[in-house]
Amino acid sequence: MIKGTSSSLLKGRATLNPATQDEMLQTIYDEAERMNWLVGNLLDMTRIESGSVQVQKEWQPLEEVVGAALTRLESQLRNHPVTTNLPADLPLLTLDSVLIEQVLINLLENAATYTPAGSPIDLSASAARDAITVAIADRGPGIPSGDEDRIFEKFYRVASADSQRGVGLGLAICRGIVEAHGGRIRAENRPGGGAIFRFTLPLQRTPPLVAPESDAPTHQPMTANNPHH
Ligand code: ADP
Repeated sequence: MIKGTSSSLLKGRATLNPATQDEMLQTIYDEAERMNWLVGNLLDMTRIESGSVQVQKEWQPLEEVVGAALTRLESQLRNHPVTTNLPADLPLLTLDSVLIEQVLINLLENAATYTPAGSPIDLSASAARDAITVAIADRGPGIPSGDEDRIFEKFYRVASADSQRGVGLGLAICRGIVEAHGGRIRAENRPGGGAIFRFTLPLQRTPPLVAPESDAPTHQPMTANNPHH
């Protein structure tokens, strides 16, 4: 698409009217962006699989990571009312905020992509003794029964997803990141319709009183090439 359109544009510069040329440039731009996104996802997946993702955990309030993800997705979420329900007394977590933000972004993007415009998205969290559970729920078509686990596999897409851009890596990346944190992620259908994705993050008992040691490995943000950022 990029090659074909740019080649037509080069050849037809003298004859094509400006509006057509603008349209063709927009196509080239959109396709380049899509390719960038795809390469970012492939690199993320490769890093997860090769074990080279360094999880750089720090004590963080979940609220901050959620806020960052929502801000980044502002335009993609403009057609969906998002309700967040985070208990005020949620304990601090040890997490890699760059990576967990990526998990939230992938889940929220899916909740916006695979559901009709206007349908609500609910993000909530709850704490148990050993872990915090984060849930992202939508009112879309849900997951075909039997596919709840397979959607986390690399390149697996539900047949009806064909009309949407995507390659089936977003959830595999989420699983890689959550498991690297010692948590779990799963999908279910929601009573009343829609999908709900839940992931856990283990709680550590006591937040440190002193700053963590400074000889921690250098953090390489996995999202360096990810155009989400
Ligand atoms: P992609 O979005 O690129 O296809 P993902 O790994 O993020 O890849 O998702 C895999 C598949 O799971 C999607 O193709 C879609 O069929 C299904 N899916 C993901 N999120 C939802 C959702 N919130 N509602 C319904 N189906 C979903």
